[in-house]
Amino acid sequence: MLTVLDLLNKTTDYFSKKKIESPRLNAELLLASVLECKRLDLYLSFDKPLPEKDIEVYRELIKRRATFEPLQYIIGNVDFFGIQLKVNKHVLIPRPETEILVESILGEIDKSKLYRILDIGTGSGNIAISLALNIPNVEVIAIDISDEAINVAKENAEMNSVSEKITFLNSDILAFEDSALSRISDSNGSKIKYDIVVSNPPYVRFEEYNELQKEIVAFEPQFAVTDFGDGYKFYRTISSLADKIIAENGKVFFEIGKDQHIEIIEILKENSIKNISVIKDYSGISRIIKGERIASINSTCN
Ligand code: GLN
Repeated sequence: MLTVLDLLNKTTDYFSKKKIESPRLNAELLLASVLECKRLDLYLSFDKPLPEKDIEVYRELIKRRATFEPLQYIIGNVDFFGIQLKVNKHVLIPRPETEILVESILGEIDKSKLYRILDIGTGSGNIAISLALNIPNVEVIAIDISDEAINVAKENAEMNSVSEKITFLNSDILAFEDSALSRISDSNGSKIKYDIVVSNPPYVRFEEYNELQKEIVAFEPQFAVTDFGDGYKFYRTISSLADKIIAENGKVFFEIGKDQHIEIIEILKENSIKNISVIKDYSGISRIIKGERIASINSTCN
């Protein structure tokens, strides 16, 4: 009979041959998900023989991983900013770098204020949900162009008990004027502007798309990864909409790709965004850019 340790050793060898990164970790995480235990609990049951039915389920998961399907899609969930989120092939897998984006926003929050937030390209809802959970007074509008993604995000909001604070909307920021987003008004009929606009948009240049990891190219939604252009399409569009969507003295926060900060600083400046600063990620890559839409002195004069 095969024990936990036998299975882990065999699977690790198999994944190594298939050139799966971190083969042992992958073998352990998949087995832990079959046995519904913590990865480290496996270490206490190395000698335990496993029933054939568990081995069968494990084999199926191993086969999927060997095709480079991301571990997170196979397991079906991911930890993000201390919460659990469901993920599937319709949404980008939340990355640890995006936690820095959330943190940088939370670092600027005045707890006594009400914040209106717009999250562009919400995907699994990771950003919208973690902000809704950590800001006491908040109304979030989270948009995406995919109904399937919105369904996942809604489920995640429910799972984390923040559904009342977030409105999910199918809207395309690249077609803002025709979108449901552009029609949102307050009780006086004035168009809503947001105190915080946040986005982790698709920023990979189309020419570089095929060089990404197999897991991404073969499994993650293509439109969530690349803008099919030079990688700056969303930064340009969102920045050019600043006057329409960012409240006076409101802020914009972007996650950005490696070496994109120089160009994006220019884009923001061209659109009168001030107080621009850049935050690095754990590997020293400029990863977050933020700026403010400062009220112009003449804005109340005609
Ligand atoms: N907002 C989601 C995230 O940050 C999805 C982003 C996207 O699909 N580009 O992970």
